[in-house]
Amino acid sequence: MQKVDKSVLDRIRGVVTACTTDQSEMAPHLEEIRGLFHGDTAMLVFPGSTSEVAEVVRLCAENRLPIVPQGGNTGLVGGGIPHADGGEIIVNLKRMSAVREVDATNQTMTVEAGCVLTDVQAAAQAADRLFPLSLGAEGSCQIGGNISTNAGGTGVLRYGNMRELVLGLEVVLADGGVWDGLRTLRKDNTGYDLKQLFIGAEGTLGIITAAVLKLFPRPHEVRTALAAVTDPSAAVELFERARATLGDLLTACELIPRNAVALVLRHIPGCRDPMAEAHPYYVLIELSAPSTGLGDLLEQLLMAAADSGIVRDAVIAESGEQARKLWRLRDSISEAQRAEGGSIKHDVTLPLSRLTDFLCEASAAVIRAIPGSRVVPFGHLGDGNIHFNVSQPEGADRKAFVAKWANLNRVVHDIAVSMGGSFSAEHGIGRLKREVLAHYRSPLELDLMRRLKSAFDPHNIMNPGKVLPSP
Ligand code: FAD
Ligand code: ZN
Repeated sequence: MQKVDKSVLDRIRGVVTACTTDQSEMAPHLEEIRGLFHGDTAMLVFPGSTSEVAEVVRLCAENRLPIVPQGGNTGLVGGGIPHADGGEIIVNLKRMSAVREVDATNQTMTVEAGCVLTDVQAAAQAADRLFPLSLGAEGSCQIGGNISTNAGGTGVLRYGNMRELVLGLEVVLADGGVWDGLRTLRKDNTGYDLKQLFIGAEGTLGIITAAVLKLFPRPHEVRTALAAVTDPSAAVELFERARATLGDLLTACELIPRNAVALVLRHIPGCRDPMAEAHPYYVLIELSAPSTGLGDLLEQLLMAAADSGIVRDAVIAESGEQARKLWRLRDSISEAQRAEGGSIKHDVTLPLSRLTDFLCEASAAVIRAIPGSRVVPFGHLGDGNIHFNVSQPEGADRKAFVAKWANLNRVVHDIAVSMGGSFSAEHGIGRLKREVLAHYRSPLELDLMRRLKSAFDPHNIMNPGKVLPSP
């Protein structure tokens, strides 16, 4: 373990008493959910205010001690996990969880970075407003982490990703200075839009301590349906129809293949097959509106699609409980895949017009590369963002399969990129995809990113070794 000057740690302790060097307390903060990265740290610090964060960063800057900012530690690319040498401290924002203000008239709220996403949603709801970001980890991820990863999730189709939901930020910079950019305006053309640089920066440019978020009218009716289709092209056609006829009433459109449903039924207790017969693919559709009448619209959409031969069968949830059951099928896919053994993940986006070609070509390439492997492509159909996850062949050795991660990634990413797609739609780069970024981004883009990094963080103390590949 790399030695960190003990006197610096003592001075940090003098600023923030809520900190620990106890191995068992630090352990959950040193590894991530997929088990791909395991780190070590000299100290885990829980500041309680912006000024405490600023003072800690100032001490770290003076002593060139690197910092890993951390939220709920639900990230999927290792960005919040320190390196294994123990030469960094973790600054975890969980104690900074206050909702500073909800302004229902301005449709904004100001929250501290450590606020858990479900608490942000609840505070908006209490003011009869909606904060629309929604994702599987919402009970533990923090808004600062959501902003730092530019999180996506199931509401992007209607409301945009995190980048589009932020109006202002407060950030502690790499020298300990505080930028107060907590503006609440929807129109503000005043030079470079600095907040956008910190959104999606994965903690490499500064520590976000608070944010102004956009709110929306709260839908008073939400209706959910599951439609069975033969293939991805029918799924895309159904999405196009829904979008064309229902516009912004359509708030989610998710693709679920049959093999994902089968895995969920096998591994997740309490889930039931949604239809009498099995179908190759399903599309989960959600409509939301401030007023009622959505049930009829949903029925008309599905009937017309069935008449045209696009939809083979459909169920419309008749209650909140039934809707939750349909969503549970979708939300349990990753967990079911985990229980099934090793899986190699891809978080790709495609132009929607190329999605069907991609699924066809990439699935064939995966089977050629690893015969017997099982492609489970699911996710945010309406955004062209598919979690193209590949489960190990039945009975195969998990470790040997997962060792093929980078090679299989290259096969799949090459196909996505050749069709105008991206190798990272919503999960970011972190440590997992640094080399992938280096491979697909041009030298000019990489150089611009490096220049930005050194302008904001000249001593490279903000989450070093993340996002940017080594020069
Ligand atoms: P962490 O994991 O703690 O950190 C993530 C990155 O942000 C790290 O690089 C860290 O250094 C940095 N960071 C954290 N807080 C700050 C801060 N205050 N200032 C500066 N940098 C900071 N993601 C999606 O986009 N869409 C999904 O649908 C989705 N579904 C998920 C489902 C599950 C079950 C799980 C486990 C994860 C899912 N994710 C999804 C990934 C993850 O939840 C998101 O990336 C989330 O936004 C991370 O938030 P966090 O607070 O856990 O951040
Ligand atoms: Zn997702």
